[in-house]
Amino acid sequence: MISFYPGPSRVHDEIPGYVQDAHELGVMSINHRSEAFMAISERTVLLLKQRLNIPSDYTIFYTSSATECWEIIAQSLITDKSYHLYNGAFGQKWHEYTLRLHSGATAVPFGVEEKLDPAKLTFPEEGVICITQNETSNGTQVPSALIKRIKKNHPHHLVAVDAVSSMAGIALDFKAADVWFASVQKCFGLPAGLGLMICSPQAIERSNHLAEKDHYNSLTFMTSMMTRWQTPCTPNVLGIYLLMRVLEDSDNIKDTQEKIVGRHEDWIAFLSERKKIAPLVRNHAVQSHTVVPVTGDADTLQHIKTLAKKNDILLGEGYGEWKSTTFRIANFPALKKKEIKKLMTILKKF
Ligand SMILES: *Cc1c(COP(=O)(O)O)cnc(C)c1O
Repeated sequence: MISFYPGPSRVHDEIPGYVQDAHELGVMSINHRSEAFMAISERTVLLLKQRLNIPSDYTIFYTSSATECWEIIAQSLITDKSYHLYNGAFGQKWHEYTLRLHSGATAVPFGVEEKLDPAKLTFPEEGVICITQNETSNGTQVPSALIKRIKKNHPHHLVAVDAVSSMAGIALDFKAADVWFASVQKCFGLPAGLGLMICSPQAIERSNHLAEKDHYNSLTFMTSMMTRWQTPCTPNVLGIYLLMRVLEDSDNIKDTQEKIVGRHEDWIAFLSERKKIAPLVRNHAVQSHTVVPVTGDADTLQHIKTLAKKNDILLGEGYGEWKSTTFRIANFPALKKKEIKKLMTILKKF
């Protein structure tokens, strides 16, 4: 079965071999305080910085998921106010999770076809500005350049970015914000169970200043553990090892992005020529490069899903508000050209 689900999605073909290697090398049983683990952890951080062009003075943390990152930000970086810019289900969830811990969490919703105007976004009160860079539920994105403008207009606010379904797929301008996070079951092409959080020196400074220490995953505690490439709890050692191996094989993100953007353009051109289906998002300026939602009438969508299944292809279901009117196609790096061709052959009939 080829999974076009936008997470968990298709994993890289090499994964089973790497799992075998991990078993043979004893990685699955190593102690998370050992030299052997610290070497893997350090190398993974180094490779992440090299492959994804992350500034050297940023700190990378291992978490269990992106959801945990929402909570870490709420616990350790937000004191009362946060501003949640979103147009879909994941951004809304982030707001809801934060609201449970801080009554000052403020929703700043915008439209699916709307390109944010940084000049109109002003947040006078101190707080963390939370942006969902790639909204997986409806296939829209907030470009890095726009995030950079928002940060520039609010130099004393921290800007936190959910890049769960775009990191390792497109090139992100990490300098444009203070906290970035993702989980590896999307563009990284790895099995679920590992999250990454990437913090600017300003974010680390803020967390040390706030000195919140009430949780096992308080950012201050994680920061002090990471000076020895460690985590407060036993991390997903196998996941980190697999990430290291995949990164060793990976191109620089600039090259990956070129492939992904090219494929995205192919998808949009292809879908625009169809009679019964069309891209859900029309505004080119806000289309996600990594998640392509497709809209059509209910009968057609059902027909397509059944036909895809018969051909061993799993499509992403619609999500949230778009559940019954769309299906989603992941445009993640691990997917192969011939797999995309196979799906296009099916969709051509519509
Ligand atoms: C998948 C996803 C999440 C949740 O990730 P978990 O690893 O399940 O916590 C959060 N935000 C976005 C945009 C996502 O696509």
